[in-house]
Amino acid sequence: MNEKYFPLDKTALEKIAQQYPTPFYIYDEKAIIENVRKIKTAFSVFPSYKNHFAVKALPNPYILKLLASEGFGADCSSLPELMLAEMSGMKGEDIMLTSNETPTKEYIAAKKMGAVINLDDFSHIEFLEKTAGLPDLISMRYNPGPLKEGNAIIGKPEEAKYGLTREQLIAGFALLKQKGVKRFALHTMVASNELSVPYHVETARMLFELAVEIFNKTGVRFEFINLGGGVGIPYKPDQIAVDYSLLVQGIQKAYNEIIKPAGLDPMNIRTEWGRVVTGPYGWLVSRAVHKKEIYRNYIALDSCMADLMRPALYTAFHHITVPGKENAPLSETYDVVGSLCENNDKFAIQRKLPKIETLAESKNGEGDFVVIHDAGAHGRAMGFNYNGKLRCGELLLRADGSVLQIRRSESIDDYFATLDIKRLENFK
Ligand SMILES: *Cc1c(COP(=O)(O)O)cnc(C)c1O
Repeated sequence: MNEKYFPLDKTALEKIAQQYPTPFYIYDEKAIIENVRKIKTAFSVFPSYKNHFAVKALPNPYILKLLASEGFGADCSSLPELMLAEMSGMKGEDIMLTSNETPTKEYIAAKKMGAVINLDDFSHIEFLEKTAGLPDLISMRYNPGPLKEGNAIIGKPEEAKYGLTREQLIAGFALLKQKGVKRFALHTMVASNELSVPYHVETARMLFELAVEIFNKTGVRFEFINLGGGVGIPYKPDQIAVDYSLLVQGIQKAYNEIIKPAGLDPMNIRTEWGRVVTGPYGWLVSRAVHKKEIYRNYIALDSCMADLMRPALYTAFHHITVPGKENAPLSETYDVVGSLCENNDKFAIQRKLPKIETLAESKNGEGDFVVIHDAGAHGRAMGFNYNGKLRCGELLLRADGSVLQIRRSESIDDYFATLDIKRLENFK
């Protein structure tokens, strides 16, 4: 079991909604910082540790600035993400570029910033050399293929487009060394939203063994090993969160058994955790607008899959609560849906919930709040404008209890910003 909490009661939420109408995302600063400190404490057994927060999970510079102040760096995979990291106070090797099919200008920008460049393919050694020039430090991404099982979101490594094979890595690091590169790192990312501690420990063991093999074959000694992201969160109330100390104990055991006897200690450990850092501490707050009773009973919200795509994209489960009705009996069964013309625009399917009052039925002109949990990573960021839907804004619940708007919601002007309406008027 895990406690599905929400830091605000209905009264506090009503006050916030007067200033910032629903829907909106809200993130809990205090909980995020406490979580970051727990992660750092767990990994403090290693000579040096840094998490490069996967910017794609929550690309908001206010959040990134908080993470930077705790010593976290960033994992970026595009030019705007590199810019977000830099404007949040991250510098040089705090930033990693783990891109794939990387455009020239991203390599040039990353090189200029002094970010760690993580190559995704053997052919990129020459591409990088020709375009941006080779930096002192290079990391490469391993794809273990059939040697490692994948999982539902990321798929099987064999079928994944990322990374180099083992043979390519050996040849690649030898080539980089020959070309005068001085510092090296090894990376992988093989799973997504994986709750199993043994799975992640096994990934570390696999990388440590590979590091020793590459050292023996090429003399390349890694400055750090990046274990990637992919640590899961318990979206369902009956799932259990990953125990950081247990996970680190397992990784440390592998380190002691493999890295130390090979004489490769001290070696730095890095991760690229995104989801587990902010996921449980962000919520999508909506209100119920309509109720519809046909073959099933539907509750329609003022948000839709443009705000949170995970249920539609992965049939992902997100816990739902109704503030003010925390202890009410779960007497109803609803599909909780959005307003997009897509039948997979459903936040929940056949979910047991308390009886929800909608805007259409209400006497005070407001529907019940509906809070969608665990939306703090890969939530707002995946939004889109299909069907002319405008994405909602983001609020930060500060440690002192105040609320700061860290991104406004999109306006109709934003939607039309890429169109030249003047030209349209003269267009026949
Ligand atoms: C998405 C991604 C991450 C972050 O994954 P989480 O599941 O959020 O931890 C890290 N590294 C790379 C290369 C990614 O693509």
